[in-house]
Amino acid sequence: MATAFAPKALKNYINGEWVEARSGKAIENRNPANRDELVGMFPASGPEDVAQAVDAAKAAYKKWRLTPAPKRAEILFRAAEILVNRKEDYSRDMTREMGKVLAETRGDVQEAIDMTYLMAGEGRRQFGHTTPSELPNKFAMAVRVPVGVAGMITPWNFPMAIPSWKAMPALVCGNTVVLKPAEDTPLSTYNLAQVLAEAGLPPGVFNVVFGDGPGAGAPMLANPGVDLVSFTGSTEVGRIVSQACAPTFKKCHLEMGGKNIIIVMDDANLDLAIEGAVWGGFGTTGQRCTAASRVAVQKGVYREFVEKFVERAKALKVGDGLDPATQMGPCINEQQLKTVMSYVEIGRNEGAKLATGGHRLEGGAHARGWFHEPTVFVDCDRKMRICQEEIFGPVVSVIPFDSFDDAIAIANGVNYGLSAAIYTRNVNHAFRAQRDLETGIVYVNAPTIGAETHLPFGGTKNTGNGHREAGLAALDFYSEWKTVYVDYSDRLQRAQIDNA
Ligand code: NAD
Repeated sequence: MATAFAPKALKNYINGEWVEARSGKAIENRNPANRDELVGMFPASGPEDVAQAVDAAKAAYKKWRLTPAPKRAEILFRAAEILVNRKEDYSRDMTREMGKVLAETRGDVQEAIDMTYLMAGEGRRQFGHTTPSELPNKFAMAVRVPVGVAGMITPWNFPMAIPSWKAMPALVCGNTVVLKPAEDTPLSTYNLAQVLAEAGLPPGVFNVVFGDGPGAGAPMLANPGVDLVSFTGSTEVGRIVSQACAPTFKKCHLEMGGKNIIIVMDDANLDLAIEGAVWGGFGTTGQRCTAASRVAVQKGVYREFVEKFVERAKALKVGDGLDPATQMGPCINEQQLKTVMSYVEIGRNEGAKLATGGHRLEGGAHARGWFHEPTVFVDCDRKMRICQEEIFGPVVSVIPFDSFDDAIAIANGVNYGLSAAIYTRNVNHAFRAQRDLETGIVYVNAPTIGAETHLPFGGTKNTGNGHREAGLAALDFYSEWKTVYVDYSDRLQRAQIDNA
């Protein structure tokens, strides 16, 4: 169980030093499972702090881009080793500030470890192309070069994994970084900065500026010294980010909301599908961009599915994530809890049938936290708002359907396109589904969550703007292609003309 914990006073990390924000103001970081517990205080930074960090990153870029990639990678390998050694401490810190259960925060730190090792390996790859020239005595190749200063804005739900998904590929490609983490989870990013500093990153290569979105995020988007922006968060803020990047043509990567679905066919392994729907719907309290907030079930197994799924949801133990018996933690903050409660009201008013949950959990062990019951709506219509809009909480809507084609239409009938899953034993259905589902990620016989770091991650429609995080796809965002021709013929050779 919880050990004694002293609140931490965090500082910005700029040019290799821990510094206060110019404003001198600080913001509280409280435990969402127990708001009496102050996890720490972090700086309320503003435009001047951001400018200082961007200047530091710009200055450091001059040397870092020329540091051989395998040497950059050696620092990442060291960082990964440190993360391995501190995994348990950092997981506990994360549960305190974010609320998800320890098994999941361990997974979050593990994801950072995996990504760091993966990208460290890229120090000796980052392959380009060589190709024959159309002209004699001429050599042609395309090589990856860094972009410059990378600005990053991250959400609270994967507070160490997402910053590492962005920072590690950026660093190994030779960019320098200014990162603004989410207000609710500064400690995990602070821990990551500590690791990178100890691993030996030169001053200014990786900078962290804490603060809220308008105060510290917006100035980063407006700063002409930032060449590239990678954002993960809501679609609403993603639109602001995209517009703010446009005037100075910043390369911009957006990972945004989702309304993911699990499709359960009549021929599915039903117990496996139920297991997947519980994990997909209520893992991380439904606060995952890939959460399975919709489950579409074919009519032949609908009643049985609903009965067993509702039983499982009802039995989930909700509480403090540091307690090993807890299966689901709190919502991140009061605002998120209120959003969940408002969607329960919306669902009721729309005529969806509330099969379990629907209330805030209060009193006893829940008295000082932002807890909500695992909630299941059944007999839902695909057009209901609870089946269309991202709720980001422990609310799952179950929708009946007749045919495979209908299921695909339900799945695709939303404005998001992150993750979709199908449970079936029919190989034709499995293959048609992976072809026809309009999402960036498809699972067969597994829930909508469970991305691995060495594959591309991202979505279509209002979820993304065409780039991908993780895997080798990340290198494409954090580098530019430079095409190089070397003519060793000692004469003028004109492409498309002299080879005719
Ligand atoms: P959010 O959009 O409220 O905040 C994300 C970040 O943007 C925070 O750091 C915040 O401070 C910053 N921000 C807010 N306003 C800003 C502004 N005007 N200018 C610059 N920065 C600003 O999102 P959240 O509540 O932290 O996270 C939940 C959302 O993130 C959900 O919609 C979820 O689906 C999405 N998400 C997506 C992915 C993905 O990979 N697709 C992963 C995790 C979370």
